[in-house]
Amino acid sequence: MKYVSTRGGMVPTPFTEILLEGLAPDGGLSIPDVYPVVDAHTLGQWRSLDYRALAFEIFRLFAPDIPSADLRDIVDRTYTARAFGSDAITPVTALEPGLHVLHLSNGPTLAFKDVAMQLLGNLFEYVLARRHEELNILGATSGDTGSAAEYAMRGKHGIRVFMLSPRGKMSRFQTAQMYSLQDENIFNVAVQGVFDDCQDMVKAVSNDLEFKARYRIGTVNSINWARLMAQVVYYFKAYFAVTQHDGEQVSFSVPSGNFGNVCAGHVARMMGLPIRRLVVATNENDVLDEFFRTGRYRVRGAADVVQTTSPSMDISKASNFERFVFDLVGRDPEVVAGLWRELDRSGEFDLTSTPHFARIPEFGFVSGSSSHADRVATIREIHAKYGIVVDTHTADGLKAANAHREPGIPMVCLETAQPAKFADTIREALGRLPELPPGFGDLESRPLRYDVMEPSVDAIKAYIAQRCAH
Ligand SMILES: *Cc1c(COP(=O)(O)O)cnc(C)c1O
Repeated sequence: MKYVSTRGGMVPTPFTEILLEGLAPDGGLSIPDVYPVVDAHTLGQWRSLDYRALAFEIFRLFAPDIPSADLRDIVDRTYTARAFGSDAITPVTALEPGLHVLHLSNGPTLAFKDVAMQLLGNLFEYVLARRHEELNILGATSGDTGSAAEYAMRGKHGIRVFMLSPRGKMSRFQTAQMYSLQDENIFNVAVQGVFDDCQDMVKAVSNDLEFKARYRIGTVNSINWARLMAQVVYYFKAYFAVTQHDGEQVSFSVPSGNFGNVCAGHVARMMGLPIRRLVVATNENDVLDEFFRTGRYRVRGAADVVQTTSPSMDISKASNFERFVFDLVGRDPEVVAGLWRELDRSGEFDLTSTPHFARIPEFGFVSGSSSHADRVATIREIHAKYGIVVDTHTADGLKAANAHREPGIPMVCLETAQPAKFADTIREALGRLPELPPGFGDLESRPLRYDVMEPSVDAIKAYIAQRCAH
């Protein structure tokens, strides 16, 4: 298997060479030249595998250029009970017959991004060591992504992380989670400004090609293919958990922002996993819900992004969406390139009256969106009915799932974060604070390690240069 660009401008490239890259050279996203097909016989054999064995079988289809023994070792070191709370890694529980929760938030930062990011840390370290290279990861965060990246890269050889965050603008939990890391290769920079200032600094550094090459600056954003690959595994695992026989159909509901998580479900389905529906659940930032309902993809301006109580889904555009559109238009890179030119020019494209839109049901996609009031009502209802507390993102998924359940088809709702991270809304819904998971009780009293900086491009450049000289 090799990787090509959704816009057609990249020669087929092996996995280990796209691993550290962001966009393809033509501005598109990398995608397998053909999806591996899992036939009924293989599916039957995979049913009894544990998480690590299953992950290994799936990854070796997508990364044939990593020797098997090395890949096995990477998988075994990543998906441990120590990091993810149990050997199940992503356990499934039943709320009632036909309605299940897939728990993806038992990793070190209590959000689903750990499942992919923990793998990325080990893959990056492995590939960099083989090439005798180093990487300086520069990012801006307002919460989840930054901490998942730091917990994945801490202590890794050949990697430093420079993470910019707006000083005093994150929740106490998130601030403590990031700034309490004491690892020498992790640099938390608290910028005297807002998130956009942080992002502008990152962009300015990345646009300075000479600086970028000299200091080997890279990123770990949500378009990274290996993150998507890592997420394919739990769709298979959950399928086996809720079915008795291969061939039975299952639907999934996925709290969505950048379309990375649900795109992994799409890939699993393209590989042959019998998925009936993929429910794309959004909050008030309903770019994706609008597309799946109407065929119109309309990105929002920064000023039109609403701050919600499921903040990890507050997006203006869905960066992984281009991968699905590539498949939807019959893998024709000319069509994709044309649509994204249109998007750059006018901020939208419209498939409403094209044959492409009519094909969406063939891919199983449906959608729904929720408001803050919906989240509060859902958290309350789920607690009253089943005695469990879910976070605000998972609540968006449960709400959308409800509208798309069908008799005889199990519905699996992806839990993407722990309620402890979004305490205010839980208190609003249930009148009390969520419990802290074991091991987090002292989080907010741990010593912090961070540097404060003015929002200045020169300041961050000097900071990086100084740390790389050691
Ligand atoms: C990132 C995130 C999402 C959205 O996932 P995408 O892959 O961007 O669609 C949902 N919930 C939580 C808690 C997240 O951190």
